[in-house]
Amino acid sequence: MILNPLSNQVGGHDGVLSMGDDNEIIVKPALPQELKFYEESALHAELASWMPTYYGTLTLTRNQQTGQDGDQTTITSHPPTIKALNGYALSDMMAASTLEKQHDPTAVDVVAAAAVAIDDGARDDECICLENVSLGFKKPCVLDLKMGTQLYDDDASEEKKARLGIVAASSTSLPLGFRMTGFEVYDSEKNDFTKYSKQYGKSLTEETVLDGIRKYFAAKLGPERMRLIIERFVNDLTDFLATIETQELRMRSSSLLMVYEGDAEAFDAGLELEQEKIAAVVARAQAHLEKAGQEEEGEDNEDEDEDEDKDEEDEEDEEDEDYDDYEDDEDDGEVAQKVTDMRLIDFAHSTWTPGLGPDEGVVKGVKSALALFERLLQEDYPIE
Ligand code: ADP
Ligand code: MN
Repeated sequence: MILNPLSNQVGGHDGVLSMGDDNEIIVKPALPQELKFYEESALHAELASWMPTYYGTLTLTRNQQTGQDGDQTTITSHPPTIKALNGYALSDMMAASTLEKQHDPTAVDVVAAAAVAIDDGARDDECICLENVSLGFKKPCVLDLKMGTQLYDDDASEEKKARLGIVAASSTSLPLGFRMTGFEVYDSEKNDFTKYSKQYGKSLTEETVLDGIRKYFAAKLGPERMRLIIERFVNDLTDFLATIETQELRMRSSSLLMVYEGDAEAFDAGLELEQEKIAAVVARAQAHLEKAGQEEEGEDNEDEDEDEDKDEEDEEDEEDEDYDDYEDDEDDGEVAQKVTDMRLIDFAHSTWTPGLGPDEGVVKGVKSALALFERLLQEDYPIE
């Protein structure tokens, strides 16, 4: 089990890691406030449905035993071949019990397999383990949209309040309620990602931010696919707005993480998979309706011979088999291809505030983003 620096990280501090065969788990050093927010999100199902699945915590232990060359990057571990990263080693202090009470059994396996002997007890970093939102994309085009007009906690130092107040006022945070933090877009001609930095995002103004958004929607997928992507984010933002208007919390510097597929073939495969899923659900519903209809008929006509009932059961078995096959695909560990996804992340400065109403700065940001995305659609954007 190897911890990797997260690829496709577009914002925030260095040190976000991922683990698992497909890097399916994000491991992020977490401040107590973020940990608390995730723990408490269990009581707020509607908002939690927008958050990455929270698997639990694990502790990274700084490895103090230096090797002969004084620069220890690997450790002897059980099971073997865990690489320590930046002097970190996975410790067996990880909260397997926490993980167990969480939702995903595969996460427990992966994390349990990663357990190693603890070293000499240097400083530990508690990490949260999260669903990797980029999983299910071949070429994830990722945008981190920092939400809200106020970027600091109410109990931040005066120096920090002043500093982040200036950042908000000199960027789109204060006027629009969101700021493009960083993003990356897949370019099929270069076979590489074009990356836009935090500085670029900060430099955008009310007047130029639409250009920034256009740059995010610049994967060369053709106008039809791009339009579909923007429409989906418009739907997501509309739904998210309805949620956030009912939530009593303060989110400072949380982000909406948007992802769309940048590879045309994978994109179409994702769409097809969605169609199949819908078709399977419709087929199932129809089978149930038919069955209910036939049962009613059966009641009217009690002398029906038993053979027919048996036929009906056979038919039903077949339907169920089809459905199971389709579910098995995902059980095989193959992750279903996605088209777009949008989640809320980064709660290092977020708190639940019962009785205080919604976070108006975040509501404002969602409305502004929604208006700008809708404007792109009205402009027949993008025309390639
Ligand atoms: P920070 O507190 O350092 O800002 P964030 O939680 O915002 O940390 O994470 C930083 C970056 O890591 C994000 O901009 C995003 O690119 C990536 N990231 C964080 N969480 C996830 C996740 N659950 N799935 C995919 N990418 C993530
Ligand atoms: Mn962040």
